[in-house]
Amino acid sequence: MEADISRETSVGCDISAKKTLTVLGATGSIGTSTLDLVGRNRDKFQVVALTANRNVAELAELARRFDARLAVIGEENLFGELKEALAGTDTAVAAGEQGLLEAAALPADITMAGIMGAAGLKPTLAAVRQGNRVALANKECLVAAGALFMREVGHYKTQLLPVDSEHSAVFQSLDNGPSEQISKIILTASGGPFRSFSAEQLRHVTPAQALKHPNWSMGRKISIDSATMMNKGLELIEALHLFPVGPEQLDIVVHPQSIIHSMVSYVDGSVVAQLGVPDMRTPIAYALSWPQRMVAPIEQLDLAKIAGLSFESPDEARFPALKLARETLLAGGNAPTIMNAANEVAVDLFLGEKLTFPEIPSFCEGMIEQVQAREGHECPGSVEEVLEIDHITRIMAQSSAIV
Ligand code: NDP
Repeated sequence: MEADISRETSVGCDISAKKTLTVLGATGSIGTSTLDLVGRNRDKFQVVALTANRNVAELAELARRFDARLAVIGEENLFGELKEALAGTDTAVAAGEQGLLEAAALPADITMAGIMGAAGLKPTLAAVRQGNRVALANKECLVAAGALFMREVGHYKTQLLPVDSEHSAVFQSLDNGPSEQISKIILTASGGPFRSFSAEQLRHVTPAQALKHPNWSMGRKISIDSATMMNKGLELIEALHLFPVGPEQLDIVVHPQSIIHSMVSYVDGSVVAQLGVPDMRTPIAYALSWPQRMVAPIEQLDLAKIAGLSFESPDEARFPALKLARETLLAGGNAPTIMNAANEVAVDLFLGEKLTFPEIPSFCEGMIEQVQAREGHECPGSVEEVLEIDHITRIMAQSSAIV
């Protein structure tokens, strides 16, 4: 489906006026980077709601610091603990899925969608239906339910601003011309911590090694996805839904320095890129302040100091998750939904040392085959159907891991 990232101006035109902001996933890597920017720009933002899943202490601290109207914890049984932690403040407290949906649906000029995984789908959609700007970090929404999600974005005329650094770079490199003028979108990939590892070395890597990304500081799940390069595969699917190109126009180039965040190549031979030091606060700041730019505490890029930028083709033999994601994207139907859910389970199993690193993509591939053998291939027609396929995949994946 074609991209419908709104370029109309309304929210965000005037960054001198205070914007109301909700952060879904406030305690995570994206959430805390967002709130770091908000903390440095208190005159520009007012926090409406903050959410987390389990981290009561940090959520309460953030709610106090930013004087949030509502704080929501995903785990129902932590409601009492959060209430106690916020006693004596004006912050209302809620818990569970209903609480998350309530937070997401509160009117806010901007919602940062920073929940990890398919768990973010319903809250992010609630924010989309609220109709203002959604800054989208949660790429799994687009992998699990891309066409449906984009339909809702179109229906509610929501401004969808990409936060993923690659997609923010593409968004910044697009020139508003007809889509026929785009020849390719080139997503850059750092290659992760194991870029130069042999297949034999990859068999023995540990979760601790995989969590150590050379350039970016991120949450655990996306760090493992970067190491397997599944992250780049998820980003291909994300790009297909966000931008007006076909799958054959999406390329990946490995660029270990993570300075060029992605590029758009045009029919006249021009290639337009966005560069910067690897710090998520740049794309987050852009999503918060677009179409203007706000000051962010980012080291200025010094190309002379960096001296060399290098590029290589991705190696799908050592990183088969990339090939699997591309095949899944081409297959369509329910395959991306299943792959996304299976990958979330596989990452957990790897972190718990129940799967080896090279088993992650083969586990996902096996789950696509098993779930489709039972459920067919059809594209889910509603959010409920997406969540049903997601749920079935998780159950089957968990039980196949036990066997
Ligand atoms: P983190 O794991 O650091 O944070 C996840 C956040 O979501 C936390 O606030 C967590 O709460 C909350 N959360 C987790 N599970 C649930 C759940 N079931 N229900 C409700 N809330 C939940 O993740 P990141 O910040 O790294 O990533 C968030 C999203 O942004 C992902 O989709 C990722 O792919 C995307 N992204 C991240 C980038 C990065 O640099 N980190 C870059 C580009 C995209 P708690 O702390 O209580 O567990």
